Amino acid sequence: MKRTDRGLTPQLHAVADGVWAYVQPDGGWMVNNLGLIAGANGATAVDTTSTERRMRDYLDALADVTALPVRRVVLTHSHPDHCNGLSLLPGAEVIAHRRAADELRRPDVPAAHIFEPYERGDAHARLPSIVFDDAITIDAGGRRVEVRHPGGAAHTRGDAYVWLPDDGILFAGDLVFNGGTPFALSGSPAGWLRALEQMARLDPAVVVPGHGALGGPELLQPVADYLQFVIDAAHDAHDRGMTALQAARALDLGRFAGLLEPERIAGNLHSALAELDGTDVDAAAAWQDMYDYHGSRPLEVHA
Ligand SMILES: [Zn+2]
Repeated sequence: MKRTDRGLTPQLHAVADGVWAYVQPDGGWMVNNLGLIAGANGATAVDTTSTERRMRDYLDALADVTALPVRRVVLTHSHPDHCNGLSLLPGAEVIAHRRAADELRRPDVPAAHIFEPYERGDAHARLPSIVFDDAITIDAGGRRVEVRHPGGAAHTRGDAYVWLPDDGILFAGDLVFNGGTPFALSGSPAGWLRALEQMARLDPAVVVPGHGALGGPELLQPVADYLQFVIDAAHDAHDRGMTALQAARALDLGRFAGLLEPERIAGNLHSALAELDGTDVDAAAAWQDMYDYHGSRPLEVHA
């Protein structure tokens, strides 16, 4: 397996017979986790990567454990780190929630100065060939693979989590961050809390987060705690008539200060304040506020 330019090696973990989680440290911007589920004649991937190089490394890692071709990709949501690698799997069927397909048609692209430039190579998303509204079940060689929408906006408006009931394995996508700041700009902090309650009721044995190390059900509550912290801070800012950036700068992140990408607080407050006001979030303003919160420097990308 190749090493990334930061010396952090992605690892393919067997989490059950014929089920793998591919974990890419350090889990920051554009560095996400993937999954693979073996079937009778082919495999189902959960998400792809942000760059061509990362996707080739993932496919190389898969070749070490299975000869099955990836015939299907389930997208947990529309963000580019999870979808760009689709171009490296040109023949695969792509499954996503209907709203994720809408978001892929009209992506929220931050202005060019917001992020550090990164080498994407020939990696780009494409639209799903199958969309679903509530849930879709895949038979992977006799293994039940349930792809479920949480019922409303959460991390995005078109999230899906992948639940393997026979194995107790939950591929949570970005509904769970482990070690990184949860990011709700394109979703709903309140809806995300409901999604976490729904996933907790599954009582998963293994939780594969969208970013960060593997764990168990203990990964869910810290995400909920952070989102509740954001909601409380937004109520306070709303009462005081503060903007998202003013509120972010005045806020003591406390026990959340050690999470990666603390600048997401500014975007999260935009989302929570818009929810309180019943307005649409101004994504361009939110990205700029994250940039300003970050010392008016581009956000670091280790893709
Ligand atoms: Zn995401």
